[in-house]
Amino acid sequence: MHLSRFPRLHLAHLPTALEPMERLSRELGVELWIKRDDCTGMSTGGNKTRKLEFLMAEALEQGADMVMTQGATQTNHGRQTAAFAARLGLKCHLLLEDRTGYNNPNYNQNGNVLLDHLHGATTEKFPAGHDMPGEMERAAERKRAEGHKVYVIPGGGSNPTGALGYVNCAMELVGQANDRNLKIDRVVHATGSSGTQAGLVTGMCAMNAQIPVLGIGTRAPREKQEQMVYDLACRTAEKLGCPGVVKREDVVANTDYVGEGYGLPTKAGIEAIRMFAELEGILLDPVYSAKGASGLIDLTRKGAFKGERVVFVHTGGSVALFGYDFAFDHANRWVNL
Ligand SMILES: *Cc1c(COP(=O)(O)O)cnc(C)c1O
Repeated sequence: MHLSRFPRLHLAHLPTALEPMERLSRELGVELWIKRDDCTGMSTGGNKTRKLEFLMAEALEQGADMVMTQGATQTNHGRQTAAFAARLGLKCHLLLEDRTGYNNPNYNQNGNVLLDHLHGATTEKFPAGHDMPGEMERAAERKRAEGHKVYVIPGGGSNPTGALGYVNCAMELVGQANDRNLKIDRVVHATGSSGTQAGLVTGMCAMNAQIPVLGIGTRAPREKQEQMVYDLACRTAEKLGCPGVVKREDVVANTDYVGEGYGLPTKAGIEAIRMFAELEGILLDPVYSAKGASGLIDLTRKGAFKGERVVFVHTGGSVALFGYDFAFDHANRWVNL
C-alpha cells in the first residue's frame, strides 16, 4: 500500500509507542500491550489526529479557509480539528450535540470545550437527537453564502479519507511487530463513528497480516456498528485500489459495554480508568477508551484471550476527564497529613 499517493500533512507525532503493560498483564493473566495513539500530538492527541492528517490535507488542496465538523459536547474529534485549523490558519466551526443532557458546568465548559475555544473555534449547541449532518450542511451553505470556502468533515472524521489514517496505523503497528519479532494475536480498541476500525481492518486485510481486530462499541448496537464499519472498510479498500479485500466476517464488534448510552459513564468503565491509572500510569476517558478497556478487561477475565498477546489501541480522550470529574468519587483518596 502506497499511502503517499494521497495528500497528507505530517503533523502527527508518529510512530506512536508500542509498549507492554506489565502490571496489568500480571493482574489479568494475559500478555497485554498498548499502542499509544493517545499521544499523537495536536492538542494532546488521540485517534482523530491520524485521520485529520489526510482530511486537512484535502481541505488545503481544495482551497478551504474554514473547516466545519460536528460531535457530542465533549467531542475529541472537534478539539483535534480545532487544533489543526489553528495550526493551518483556517477558521473552525463546531456543531455540538448535547447527547447526555448533563447540566454540569465542567461537562459543558471544561475539558474539550475549553480547548475548542482556546484554539479559536466557534461552537454552536443542539439538543440530543437533532439531525446533525443536515444541520452541518445548512451551516456550511450559510458560510458559503458569506463567501467562505468551507470543508465539511463528517462526525468523527469517518469517511474513506479519514480512515486512511488508520490504514496507516495498521501498517505502522505491523512494522513495529515485525521489527521486534513480536507476534500479535489480536488488536482491541474502542469503536464509535467507525473510521478507526474500518481503517485498521482494511489495512490488516490488505497486508494479509492475519491479525483480528475487535472493536468495543460505545454507542450503536452490534449489527448496526458492524455494518457501519464494514461499509466504510469497503469504501476505504476501494479508495486504496484493493476493492473486496475486506470480508464481512473480518469486521467484529462487541457492543456489550455501552451501558446506558453514548457518553454516559459505566461502572466497569470507571473501574478500567482506575486500573489503567493505578497499574500503568495511563489515562483513559469515560466515553470511549474506558469502555473499550472495560471490554478488554472483562473478556480477558472470562478467558476470551487465553494464551494470546493482545494489543490495546489507546484512542485517547483523556481531556474529557476534566469534563466528567463528577463521575469519580475521589473523596476517599484525600488524606490529612
Ligand atoms: C472518536 C474516538 C473513538 C472512536 O473512533 P471512531 O473512529 O469514531 O470509531 C475512540 N476513542 C476516542 C478517544 C475517540 O475520540
